[in-house]
Amino acid sequence: MIRTMPSLKLLLCSIGIMLIITFLVKYLYTQLIYFNSGLLIVILLTLFIDMEIVTYAFSTLSILVILYSLHFFTDIQDDELITQQVLAIVAVVITTVLVISIKRLYRSINKERKQLNALFQFNPLSVIIYNCEEEIVLVNPAAQRLFGYTEAEAKGLSIAKIIPERFHLEHGARVLEYRNAVPENNLGHDLDIFCRKKNGEEFPAVARLQAYYQKRECYIISFVEDITERRESEEKFIHQKEQLEKITHDVRRMNTELENKVAERTMILREALLELEKSQTELSEALNKEKELNEIKSRFVSMASHEFRTPLSAILSSAALISKYQLTDDQEKRDKHIRRIKGSVNHLNLLLEDFLNLGKLEEGRVFVQPEPFDVHEFVLDTFDEMKHTLKQGQHMELAYSGETLFTSDKRLLKNVLINLLSNAVKFSEENKMIQVTIENSGSKMALEVKDEGIGIAKEDMQYLFSTFYRAKNAVNIQGTGLGLHIVKRYINLLEGSISISSELNKGCTFNIELSTLFEAPVEEMQLGSVPT
Ligand code: ADP
Repeated sequence: MIRTMPSLKLLLCSIGIMLIITFLVKYLYTQLIYFNSGLLIVILLTLFIDMEIVTYAFSTLSILVILYSLHFFTDIQDDELITQQVLAIVAVVITTVLVISIKRLYRSINKERKQLNALFQFNPLSVIIYNCEEEIVLVNPAAQRLFGYTEAEAKGLSIAKIIPERFHLEHGARVLEYRNAVPENNLGHDLDIFCRKKNGEEFPAVARLQAYYQKRECYIISFVEDITERRESEEKFIHQKEQLEKITHDVRRMNTELENKVAERTMILREALLELEKSQTELSEALNKEKELNEIKSRFVSMASHEFRTPLSAILSSAALISKYQLTDDQEKRDKHIRRIKGSVNHLNLLLEDFLNLGKLEEGRVFVQPEPFDVHEFVLDTFDEMKHTLKQGQHMELAYSGETLFTSDKRLLKNVLINLLSNAVKFSEENKMIQVTIENSGSKMALEVKDEGIGIAKEDMQYLFSTFYRAKNAVNIQGTGLGLHIVKRYINLLEGSISISSELNKGCTFNIELSTLFEAPVEEMQLGSVPT
């Protein structure tokens, strides 16, 4: 309408002329109805002028003309004429309202059309509309740019030209599907295809097809998006993802290898450390043993020099004196010295006995020979053997309770008892009592040897069972420091335990706990045992 509208000046002139002609005709022929129709034509003509004010202006002029003609150009003042003029004014007003409404309607339609046009023209998405013969009827500038066709070239072009042959079937099926679908439900679907440009170059695209009907004719509107860059970045992304996965896999593998290596090295290191610790322990054990051996050696040397020298010099001096007593009257003196020599030899004998026993223990030649024996009788016999060693006024007492018989190695137990009793005698003064207490349940036996002697200092207690050890308060009393060591080893062989409680100058108590041993078969005993 805008395009076909004559120029504003021309229109205004025409309408003015029309109004003047109408006015003149009315002036000359007052009774003519044409006068009013002319005014209505004038208002209708303002339809071609966009501005509403023009319509209002001519409408007002028309009403003025009608009123003016009523006063000045008519002599006859009849009712019919007045009614006619009033109707004319009503017609002018209605026409004016009609013209204004049409103008407003047109303006709004025009506005919407412009917006739709802009949407089509400036849409960055390529829009192609084609009919049911698959001929393009409309393309927007974006589509023209994408495909390389001008608007004129594109119009009437078959859609098959811009879609490669391999996609024709799929595209045709989709179009058919949309055409047969109920229009309201036809929301369109993305079609992943390749498109072809005017120069033959192909590119990946996503086409969304939508069918619609206009005057019963079907049209397909296709929104085409070039996804070359998206595809490239997708491919790039996939490639990078693959590379990342490969790197991750490599890193994980390397990590595992590293972990394994570290674990392996750690194990080797740990083993080496253990080896080192072991050899260190062995070294320190060897060192300790050597130290211990040196101590034993020095203790042995001091013991031997003392314990052997005293009886030997006694024997020597007695022998020298005996040779001087040649008279018969000297017999008593000779006997005295012979007794001294015998005593010294006995002492030396006992010393050697201890060495012999220790040697056997070290060589593992001491075997246990359990046998049932009368314990009460056994202790009294031992008392009897020890009787001659008691000092003046010393006496031994036995407190016995429980069973009579007990199964153990009698010979080893005797050695133990003799050792403890001789120590009690040796380290007690004259007139002191030595108390032996025995509780025998048959399966277990508790043996206690208690004296009222010099006792043992606290600091010496822990070393008493080691070889050649002698407490400080015992250095002037004869002894080897072997007795308790042998006792402890015998008790171990008898599967028992020994403990000491003592206070300096208040005596000593030795406690032994024994369990009954099973009697070994005679053959086995003979094979495995060597008498001590
Ligand atoms: P020995 O009696 O030959 O010295 P032992 O091995 O029998 O050696 O005793 C070790 C040390 O234990 C003794 O030198 C002594 O110091 C201490 N001892 C053992 N029995 C007694 C005891 N009844 N009273 C005090 N001291 C004792």
